[in-house]
Amino acid sequence: MPIDATKPYDDQNIFAKILRDEIPSSRVYEDEWAIAFHDINAQAPIHILVIPRGPYVSWDDFSANASADEIAGFIRAVGTVARDAGLVPRGYRLLANTGRQAGQEVPHLHVHLFAGQPLGPMLA
Ligand code: 5GP
Repeated sequence: MPIDATKPYDDQNIFAKILRDEIPSSRVYEDEWAIAFHDINAQAPIHILVIPRGPYVSWDDFSANASADEIAGFIRAVGTVARDAGLVPRGYRLLANTGRQAGQEVPHLHVHLFAGQPLGPMLA
């Protein structure tokens, strides 16, 4: 069920539990600002989710309210995850569903990283 991205942060959301290691995930990266793990329902040969450690509901919340250090740290982490996965220079796609019409399901900001095959002009 897509979320209302204007709601306050819910610290019981599934990615908050993954961050606290209350439920398992296959982590591929972590640093001070972000963690990354494989999507449980991969839509491409490589499908990784990168999330900030801070409690941000969506890209909108993060871009408006995170500190400059958090934003820089998160964006650097996304790039590092891609490079560590050997995706440069092959290429990859980033996607951040934001709010109901985009189909955002989990109310903790996540960037999807898709790769491993030619992705075409859009992912439906
Ligand atoms: P959204 O639609 O919010 O942009 O994407 C949510 C993503 O989270 C989906 O691709 C879904 O497969 C993934 N996901 C949902 N629950 C879990 C989980 O418990 N573990 C992992 N690794 N991924 C999840």
